[in-house]
Amino acid sequence: MTPILHIQDLTKTYQSTVKTLTVLDHINFSIEEGSTVSIVGPSGSGKTTLLGLCAGLDRSTSGVVELNGIRLDNLSEDARAQVRNQYVGFIFQNFQLLPTLTALENVMVPLELRGEKNIKPQALDLLDKVGLLERAHHYPAQLSGGEQQRVSLARAFSNKPRILFADEPTGNLDAETSEKVVKLIFDLNREAGTTLVLVTHDAELAAKTQRILRVKGGKLISDERTGV
Ligand code: ADP
Repeated sequence: MTPILHIQDLTKTYQSTVKTLTVLDHINFSIEEGSTVSIVGPSGSGKTTLLGLCAGLDRSTSGVVELNGIRLDNLSEDARAQVRNQYVGFIFQNFQLLPTLTALENVMVPLELRGEKNIKPQALDLLDKVGLLERAHHYPAQLSGGEQQRVSLARAFSNKPRILFADEPTGNLDAETSEKVVKLIFDLNREAGTTLVLVTHDAELAAKTQRILRVKGGKLISDERTGV
């Protein structure tokens, strides 16, 4: 079976005037469709960069990124955006909601981009699923961190993603909100078979996934099955 995500010799460097910084150094792994995976490691080890490359948000310096059999590493920005709209949900550490749009409008954007019909009822359904129907017409600045995170989940879910990438999805949340968010993410895996790839510092959250990839200094140093 073709894996949903296949990474081969993935390397990312940044060039400054004085030196080359190697942020990711020949990373190799594959992820099976429908599985749940965490990426863990110390701060600055390259986790966010790795997630961005896997999701096609950014381009590698060298190496292969194949999402659902499609090579992303040699596609243009526009072509990568199309693949993302088709297959990928992404939850950013700082939510990245559009500040001039309401919660509802933020969730409608990807539906509109996909050219879907009847997007308002669909977006309202998604906000209902994350328990935020009564906040539909609020702007991000009028929402708490936990509420903004749930809007960003609804937005990510609106793509009906085959694979969901989440960067520290519980990082900025209190324990109770964090539990709600984790449940929503894992429900998506159970109910829709969505593959989950989570970057997290939270050992409890990582232990809930089937597999833990550990990154250090830009290298993949371990790849363990948790037995979940
Ligand atoms: P983590 O998510 O594990 O904390 P990151 O992927 O955010 O790590 O960053 C890894 C390294 O890459 C850090 O040293 C960071 O400073 C560097 N880095 C990230 N983005 C850039 C950039 N655009 N230009 C230069 N260095 C960067």
